[in-house]
Amino acid sequence: MATFEVELPHTEAECLAALVDQARNPETLPKFVWGCNAGKHIGWGTIEAANENAVRQQISKVLRDKAKVTPVDRFTAAQIKELEKMHS
Ligand SMILES: [Zn+2]
Repeated sequence: MATFEVELPHTEAECLAALVDQARNPETLPKFVWGCNAGKHIGWGTIEAANENAVRQQISKVLRDKAKVTPVDRFTAAQIKELEKMHS
């Protein structure tokens, strides 16, 4: 399993249809926060999945094509110290 940061940009016109469609996936819906009420029509979420395709399957059809899916990692303080040593 890998961790992916998912961005779901959409227009105001697409908003309601996108949210209604996304609500059909009750497991994925709570993984997202939305800027819609602030006038910024983007959803952001973190999804654990085997690969990017598996992530896209969990995203509303209205949003899927424009979704930006990025594999992400956490760094510990110790790992960052190692990086500093390698670059000094
Ligand atoms: Zn919206």
